[in-house]
Amino acid sequence: MKSSTKDEFYTITVIGGGLTGQLMVSLLLKSNNIDSNKICWINLNKKTFIDTRVSFLNTNNFFKLKNKFKYHFNDNDFLNIKKIQIHNENEKLPLSLEDKQGHGVIIQNDTLKKTFKFLKKNLKVFKSKVIKTKYDQYHRYLYLEDGTKIKTSLVISADGNSSALRDFAEIKYVSHNLNHTIISGYLHSKKFNNSIAKQVFLNDGFIGLLPISKNNNLVNFVWSLDNEVLKNNKSNFKYHDEIIQRLNFFFTKYNICFENQKAKTTNYDKLQIYSSNITFVNNPFSEKIALIGDAAHTIHPLAGQGFNLSIEDCFDLLKCIDKASSYGKDFGDISILNEYGNLRKKRNNLITLITTSIFYLFKKRTRKFNNIINLVSQNLNKIYGKKIFSIIARGY
Ligand SMILES: Cc1cc2nc3c(=O)[nH]c(=O)nc-3n(C[C@H](O)[C@H](O)[C@H](O)COP(=O)(O)OP(=O)(O)OC[C@H]3O[C@@H](n4cnc5c(N)ncnc54)[C@H](O)[C@@H]3O)c2cc1C
Repeated sequence: MKSSTKDEFYTITVIGGGLTGQLMVSLLLKSNNIDSNKICWINLNKKTFIDTRVSFLNTNNFFKLKNKFKYHFNDNDFLNIKKIQIHNENEKLPLSLEDKQGHGVIIQNDTLKKTFKFLKKNLKVFKSKVIKTKYDQYHRYLYLEDGTKIKTSLVISADGNSSALRDFAEIKYVSHNLNHTIISGYLHSKKFNNSIAKQVFLNDGFIGLLPISKNNNLVNFVWSLDNEVLKNNKSNFKYHDEIIQRLNFFFTKYNICFENQKAKTTNYDKLQIYSSNITFVNNPFSEKIALIGDAAHTIHPLAGQGFNLSIEDCFDLLKCIDKASSYGKDFGDISILNEYGNLRKKRNNLITLITTSIFYLFKKRTRKFNNIINLVSQNLNKIYGKKIFSIIARGY
């Protein structure tokens, strides 16, 4: 740590250069209630970093980003998903959730980052890590590794799943390792319908399949694989070969096959690999600090809802900040933070409960239980009751 100390004051400090941090800063800059020179952003991410993942954004969030907050999306930037199909071992047919209005859109994370881009002219950006924090009655103080000290009325921390700020601010949480590895990458498939997203539940893991473009046959996969499979073989495990073998075996009866062609751009050859844990934070705030994004809730990616919850965190926190501004209240006032916590509780709890329950339901199933799941799913296909799943996927 360098010894020189620079003291800075900003009304709002956003921490985190991931999708959530960037969206939050961008929304604050769009708001008329706060001057851009009163905001600062702590962003450690390098410009060269490319996130090759894709996100499913539910209809509600996509509509708000586009129409309420005027983010511009080119028609070629996203794919509309009209049907979600849930496949299971030994199924007769998948559970098909159709939504004529569309469940949502598939969009590449790097395209989202470009869409949320803003002019940095009046915005102060710090590139150094937060290593300590303190607070008093009026402010929170952030100490950066390079010696900078920031005094601020409100810290908004989007510092991810292993949030250091959550620990520094002594915010209580429960974290649990699911013993799965998450692998994200791309495959080619000529017969994959590009308005359908699929979730496939296999015995040793779950695979999400998302088409990414109208013009090519690329399909993004999010593979959640039981660590038992990797136990003695992690360094030699041929992820592409193994997933293709599983998918082609499963989809022969549907006449769909997958292959790993060399892509034109190397980004599509790369895999992004994560450990899988869930984090539950009951009250995502403390004195003069609010958590948003994965720092406030980390869920299993099987339903593609993690960033959707993060978008909603940003919308709700902005609502609270705008309200504080109109009443002339301090942005870090505990009543404002409490309101933010209350607004987020229902959706965050519900989605964490649903995704974790689905994870364990399929992870622990026996052959007999699997047959029951398939029977229920067959019956669900025929009834109106399945609309509840579409409503959850759509976001309202
Ligand atoms: C394979 C995969 C597929 C997914 N698919 C979907 C999907 O289809 N739909 C969906 O809604 N969600 C999806 N998710 C979830 C979604 O990707 C995450 O919820 C989202 O990316 C979280 O973003 P974040 O900005 O909150 O956190 P992160 O991206 O983890 O960013 C954290 C940031 O904080 C910074 N930071 C950390 N510590 C410090 C510190 N001490 N000081 C300063 N900065 C710090 C880091 O440098 C980083 O920039 C998926 C997740 C995975 C793993």
